[in-house]
Amino acid sequence: MPVETCAICQLHGDPAARERFEIERSELWVLRHHPDPAPLPGWILLDSRRHCSGPVDFSEAEASDWGRAVRDASDLVKQITGCDRVYAIAFGEGAQHLHLHLIPRHLDDPASKAWAVADLYRAMDSGDRAAADPSVVASLVDRCRSWISAQG
Ligand SMILES: [Zn+2]
Repeated sequence: MPVETCAICQLHGDPAARERFEIERSELWVLRHHPDPAPLPGWILLDSRRHCSGPVDFSEAEASDWGRAVRDASDLVKQITGCDRVYAIAFGEGAQHLHLHLIPRHLDDPASKAWAVADLYRAMDSGDRAAADPSVVASLVDRCRSWISAQG
């Protein structure tokens, strides 16, 4: 999949999407909330900034920094949503550009347990389940930005 037609590259270059959903951009990574419709508030994505299919294609710099980036992004999801656990899932199929789904897992919500979260996603995608309220997502993105800037 060439860069020009990659949905992730397009999102990274879209000022409106950046304004609404992007949380942080570093030399190697882009951290952003799942765009609307979002399956859950706090469903965050960690993307490679470079068009890259996944860890198999990492540069040395990406390989060295990946563990820290995943830990910090997962910690952000936990701090901001108050979830009990954070799932990390990457298929790289819809767009063959690394986007790691970091999913807040609340133990009191069976709909988000393990593979059930895939059913939750499909139900939201087909309109059988309500997406996260866009105003809740917007406020969460703001809190993520504030939390990161407070970390220095
Ligand atoms: Zn791309």
